[in-house]
Amino acid sequence: MVSTEPSIFTRILRGDIPSEMVGETENVFAINDIAPRAPLHLLVIPKTEKYRNVVELAAGDPELLAEMIGLANTLAMQHSDGDFRLVFNTGAEAGQTVFHVHAHVLAGGLSEKSVSD
Ligand code: 5GP
Repeated sequence: MVSTEPSIFTRILRGDIPSEMVGETENVFAINDIAPRAPLHLLVIPKTEKYRNVVELAAGDPELLAEMIGLANTLAMQHSDGDFRLVFNTGAEAGQTVFHVHAHVLAGGLSEKSVSD
């Protein structure tokens, strides 16, 4: 059965779950990941939960995907040295747990780590 409950990110956006917003554009917002895996670990999230993953988003609204990447870049410059890794887990077998598309923005001390770390 497909869930009709709002996603955890929609509930954060509405203020139902506390989380500090670290950046925002017209259609996108960003928060700190609750379980950081890098010195800087942000989640950049469209305000709509229409798209479950980045493949759906790229097909349905590439401008919104570009807006996400723009905010990721701005925040990586503000909070780190401007270099960052962008991760879209796509599908449960790849580690996706929230099916409201989001980008992990990872930065700080990553140069010695491979993408699989
Ligand atoms: P995924 O596993 O779907 O790629 O990423 C979901 C991310 O959301 C995880 O890294 C997890 O730590 C984060 N997350 C889950 N629940 C919350 C929450 O309530 N607040 C915040 N800030 N992050 C959360």
